[in-house]
Amino acid sequence: MAGLCAAARAHELGLKPVVLEKGTRPGGSMLLSSCVVWRYRTFEDFRAECPGGDEELQRVIFDGFDEALEWLVSLGPKVVWEDTTNPRTTGKRFDPRSLTEVLVRAAGDVRLEERLRPELPLVLATGGFAVRYAREHGLLVRCNPWSEGDGLEFALERGATTAGDLDEFYGRAMPAPPARIGEEDYVRLSQLWDGEARFVNEDGDEFFERLPAWHESDLAQAVARQPGGTAWFIVSADFREDPRVVALREAGGTVVEEDGELRLHVAAAVTHTQGGIKIGPAARVHGVDGLFAAGADVGGISTGGYSSGLAAALVLGRIAAETALR
Ligand SMILES: Cc1cc2nc3c(=O)[nH]c(=O)nc-3n(C[C@H](O)[C@H](O)[C@H](O)COP(=O)(O)OP(=O)(O)OC[C@H]3O[C@@H](n4cnc5c(N)ncnc54)[C@H](O)[C@@H]3O)c2cc1C
Repeated sequence: MAGLCAAARAHELGLKPVVLEKGTRPGGSMLLSSCVVWRYRTFEDFRAECPGGDEELQRVIFDGFDEALEWLVSLGPKVVWEDTTNPRTTGKRFDPRSLTEVLVRAAGDVRLEERLRPELPLVLATGGFAVRYAREHGLLVRCNPWSEGDGLEFALERGATTAGDLDEFYGRAMPAPPARIGEEDYVRLSQLWDGEARFVNEDGDEFFERLPAWHESDLAQAVARQPGGTAWFIVSADFREDPRVVALREAGGTVVEEDGELRLHVAAAVTHTQGGIKIGPAARVHGVDGLFAAGADVGGISTGGYSSGLAAALVLGRIAAETALR
């Protein structure tokens, strides 16, 4: 999303940007997402939810959000929800296909199956390194298949530094293999139990004895740290026909019923990494002239919690284009 937003804004400002997209289709993880673009209602909430993040960068995203969202709406994508359904947050939900089409049109020159090239000025927007991280840690991927850390590597080779925790990710517990999970099922198959489950690892030990945070990414990271990166979620057998259980079964996942309880076999899945390239408030890569970064390539926005990845992509993508023009 960040690359398309940067290009759309650059185009609007009279530049002739080129989007080099490694994948076979545009839209990255945005196209697979629930597409809720949001911010916390207050900046204090943002700080409290993501206490380890770079405060200056958080301020930039928070303050730039409303205008950036208005701009996005003005491009004409289909809006599905006029606001979020979460009382902590405000924003809009878009139809991801429509949003992708609108942004591609606004961006102008989008070239598929082309990798980033060392021509400056350049906005790095490769979506972080979830795929590489998942591979290295034996976890499931829950994002586009092309975000392997190319932007981070490119920046580091040119003297950039990192921000945030490179070991922190935003993710979900998903049905464990042998379940088959197509990318169109990433939202539907997420195992979000909102306080209804207990969590036991393969050794039978309870490993997460508090309530998960509202986004449950803390739980997904805890599952990732268990043997095999898998766990069992234990819920009442009354949930036998619950859509989450039915979906898990239909995908070929494992559900065991015993003693009035259901045991659901899950595995940690990585949606995006939270550590990444260090940038300043104008989206310049720290220490490298002519290089900018936006979206999940940027580290240190949500450290210690979770905030909207789509919002970071939208706001920082636009700012990168504006700074590049200056
Ligand atoms: C199932 C799911 C649900 C989600 N729901 C939400 C939600 O409701 N709200 C929210 O805020 N966030 C959500 N997210 C997260 C959100 O999609 C990401 O945070 C966001 O897309 C990040 O934007 P980005 O531009 O950094 O990365 P992406 O949108 O993934 O775009 C990165 C692009 O870079 C391309 N690329 C990678 N390497 C190269 C290279 N070397 N050269 C050229 N191109 C390259 C990729 O192919 C990709 O198209 C969800 C994600 C998923 C998967």
